[in-house]
Parts: sequence; structure tokens; C-alpha cells
Amino acid sequence: MLRRKHKYTHNFLKEGFMLTTYLDWAATTPMRAEATQVMMEVLQPGLAGLAAGGANANALYTAGRDAFKLLEQTRKKIATLIHARPDEVIFTSGATEANNTALYGITDALMLEHEMDADHADHNCVPRIVISSIEHDSVLEAAAQLGMWGADVAVVTPDSSGHISAEALKEVCNDHTILVSIMMVNNEIGSVMDIAQLADVAHSVGALFHTDATQAVGKWPINVAELGIDSLSFSAHKFGGPKGCGVLYLKAHTPFSPQIVGGGQEFRKRSGTQNVASIVGMGHALEISTQNQDEEYLRLQDLRDYCYAALTELPGVRAVVDVLPGDESYAPHIVNVTVDGFESQTLIMQLDRLGIAVSGGSACSSNDLDPSHVLLSLGISRDRALDSMRVSFGWLTTRKDIDALVSALKDLINS
Ligand code: PMP
Repeated sequence: MLRRKHKYTHNFLKEGFMLTTYLDWAATTPMRAEATQVMMEVLQPGLAGLAAGGANANALYTAGRDAFKLLEQTRKKIATLIHARPDEVIFTSGATEANNTALYGITDALMLEHEMDADHADHNCVPRIVISSIEHDSVLEAAAQLGMWGADVAVVTPDSSGHISAEALKEVCNDHTILVSIMMVNNEIGSVMDIAQLADVAHSVGALFHTDATQAVGKWPINVAELGIDSLSFSAHKFGGPKGCGVLYLKAHTPFSPQIVGGGQEFRKRSGTQNVASIVGMGHALEISTQNQDEEYLRLQDLRDYCYAALTELPGVRAVVDVLPGDESYAPHIVNVTVDGFESQTLIMQLDRLGIAVSGGSACSSNDLDPSHVLLSLGISRDRALDSMRVSFGWLTTRKDIDALVSALKDLINS
């Protein structure tokens, strides 16, 4: 439960509206107080802000060097937290950019390296990119673009539980596969992939491996070295940092052609003046997320199990995937059910009137009337998929929030 009732303050937003029950943490999280605080220092107006880290981190004078120090301290902190080298951490505008640039940048570089020009290649050796059918749009669309540029894009589908198996991946990898991209945690149903095993499969055919870890970072320890991956992406706003800020981890010596070029910042891999305030906020948010992480994981998992049990007691409410209590093959913060006879969009609006925020599938596609590609991939019918509701939690969520949702939903179903 959010501690206070939160009233919108911008005058263009609905007068007097109260957000009381926030259950859409997989879409975004509130800022962590400590992250806001450090960002405010850098964002101070006037010259004081420039002197507190707000200067151009590439400038040679003291304020610039101080901003650079802050930037590099944060890079080191994040690198340590994910067991990477500082020069393997590239700051981006979020996971969308990190996913796009990982797919484009690695493919581009590998094709150059192997002199694989898709237009002129012998048809039998067109480079193959493998993705899963349940990726976030930022991977799906980037792969589709690579397909339009001539790459052979192959798609691996999950089993009915939403997991991608090593066997299924082996079947779609061939000798020409150069890159495999499979997410660590699905953002709609919470299925957790065995990334180390999948990366092994990719490497066994000589391909590199990228993972979108947006829904995993901050939830449990991430060790890029142990995972054996070549690149990984995440966004700060999923763990209490600001929106528009994220990381592309790129293992040293991974072939990569920069996609955003200009001033050569971020080791010439991502040009543009760095957003020091947001980056520092992200570093603090991630550090705090890793404190008491084991306890918080179990607390969230308990909420998830409580939520599935309470929701599926209601008539017509069915879990999209079978999540057993304590099941670690699903993330602790995501619940997905279908509510017979209630299209997601209608349900979201009805709950919204009661101050309850949930999502239908992923927030990015919630303006879409199309059913979720993830649910369809599980073999769920189009009609049923249109009735999906995703509930997701974070550090402020308690059983009271879930009780509020269950009670409101009960009234709506019975009305
Ligand atoms: N990947 C996943 C799994 C996500 O959940 C999201 C956010 N919905 C993204 C990528 C994109 O993150 P951002 O919008 O912050 O770029």
C-alpha cells in the first residue's frame, strides 16, 4: 500500500483523483527517496547545480571533472553490483535503446567481421539471428528490422509454461547463427529463463548471446560473468530509479558497431552528453535494491502466491500460467490472470475509477486492442487473451493492496 493517498498535482491531470493502490510495478516503479535526493543535488538550478555534478562530464575544468568523477563512481558501483568491469557498462536512455543497440551493433559488427553481406551472401549462409517469440517489443521490432535488412530471423517459442528450453533453442540455431537474444524474465507472465544454459547453446554454435534483464535486475543478484553472456540490458525505472536511463552491459571485446555516433562518449560505443543526474539516481536505486534482497524476494514471492490464490477464488478468474507456491521459475513480482467476460481495457478503466492501477499485458502495448503476443505464444485463445490482467508488485506493496484489488474485482464480477 502506498503510505499516503497520492493526489495528482499537475493541473492538466484529473482534479482530486487519488491513486491509492498501485499494482503496476512491472511497468514502472515509484522513485526511491534516496535516488530522488541525489538527483536533486545534481539538478539544483543555477551554477550550484553545475558544481554539484551537473556540468558536462567531458569538460576539462573542475566542475566537468567532478561530474566525470560522479559518473565513473556510479559506473564502478553498477559494474561491481553486476560483476562486470567498469568499461563494460555503457549508459543508455533505457532498456529499449540498450536492446536495439545490442541487436543492431553486434549484428553489424559480426557481419562486417565475417564479411557476411546479407545482400550478396550465398542464400545458404545468410546470418541468422534467433529471438524468442515472447521478447519485449524493443527486441522483436529490432529483429524485424534486421530481417528487413537481409538477416534470417528465426523465432524460438516457449512451452506452455512460458519458458524457453535449451532443446527448443538448439532446434532453431544453425551454423550461420551469429546472435541469440532471449529475455531473462518475461514482463507479462514472469517466467524466468535459464540464461546460463541458453547462452551455452548459443555459444556451442558460435553465436553471441544477449539477454534483456529489465525485469530481473534489482530483484535478485545478477552476475554477468557466471551467466556467461555477451550483453545484457536494463532500465533504471524498474527498480526505483528515473525513467529514460539504463545500461547496456557489453562484455569486453564483444564485436559492436556503435549505433549512436557523435562525440565518442561511453568508450565510443554510445555518443551523447551523459545524463549524470539520472545515472547517479540509477546507481543509488540499484544499490538500495540489492540490500535485503533475499528477504524482499521472499516477501514479494509470498505476495504473489497470496495474490494468485485470492484472485483465482473469484468466479471466472484463471491464472495464465500455473505458478506453484514458492515457484522460483517465475519472478516474485508478476501475476497474470484472465477475467472471463472482462476485456482488459474495460477492467483497467473500471479499477482505475476506484484508484487501483493494474495493467492488461504490458503497459507499452496497453493502448493496443490486439491480444498479447506473449499469451498467444502460450497457446491461449485470442478471445481469452483479450481478458488478461497483469498485477505486479514492489517494495511498498502489502497484502492490503491485494485485498483492495480482490474486493474491487469481486464487486465488479458480481455487479
Ligand atoms: N524489456 C522489458 C522486459 C521491459 O519490461 C521493458 C519495459 N516495459 C523494456 C524492455 C523497455 O524498457 P524502457 O521502456 O525503460 O526502455
